[in-house]
Amino acid sequence: MRFHHIVVLTGAGISAESGIKTFRDHNGLWENHRIEDVATPEGFARDPALVHQFYNQRRAQLLDPKLKPNAAHLALARFEQQHKAKGGRFLLISQNVDNLHQRAGSESVIAMHGQLQKIKCPVTGKNQSWLKDLTAADLCHCCKTAQPLRPDIVWFGEMPYQMDECVDALMQADLFISIGTSGQVYPAAGFVQIAAESGAHTVELNMEPTRGDFAEGYYGPAAKIVPAYLSKLS
Ligand code: NAD
Repeated sequence: MRFHHIVVLTGAGISAESGIKTFRDHNGLWENHRIEDVATPEGFARDPALVHQFYNQRRAQLLDPKLKPNAAHLALARFEQQHKAKGGRFLLISQNVDNLHQRAGSESVIAMHGQLQKIKCPVTGKNQSWLKDLTAADLCHCCKTAQPLRPDIVWFGEMPYQMDECVDALMQADLFISIGTSGQVYPAAGFVQIAAESGAHTVELNMEPTRGDFAEGYYGPAAKIVPAYLSKLS
């Protein structure tokens, strides 16, 4: 086995060919909205109805029977299984809030920016599964007071989930692969540096080169280049 401990970071680009729009490819707008309006605590405080509507649409898209994991999601899940069967270690860290990695069969996944199909109590921080629309009228049961619920999405200015586990894995990795991310959102954008400084080989798979300092890179649509790259590793 050439690499034993592999950490993969994915971003919106891996889900593009499944039909979920990326963020930076559309002039810095997310589905025609400014991130300040739909992806910050301040935007939610200003206009909760708009933020609920935005995430309700994204959540509903996940239930569309036409939406499916693509060849890149499937190849990563298959690779994880094979690599672990040979005694290797594998962690997939995703910035995506869709559920396509989980649906493809990936098991060791950290959804560092939260998940569309979960909602969160703003007081206790407890989350729960939620597949339908969320409105300001939906109240929390866990803290016994009338707290309106929010999508379980890590907004700009908030701390991503499981950062300690991410950093531990990056420091132990001997291979770090970044897929379909523009590398503009921190702390994820700094993962390549942590991995490289800890001695990992670093690889970028993306539609086009980013400013990240990778030792190796392959460019094109994820559904093509991810299976091709992983088959060379197995
Ligand atoms: P981004 O939109 O900033 O960058 C996407 C990157 O993917 C770009 O570098 C682009 O060149 C590349 N790309 C586009 N199509 C591709 C394809 N078919 N194959 C390979 N690469 C392709 O995305 P980001 O870096 O993940 O940051 C955006 C933030 O917005 C994330 O934090 C994420 O939570 C959120 N977001 C999530 C989703 C999702 O869950 N699917 C979608 C949009 C935005």
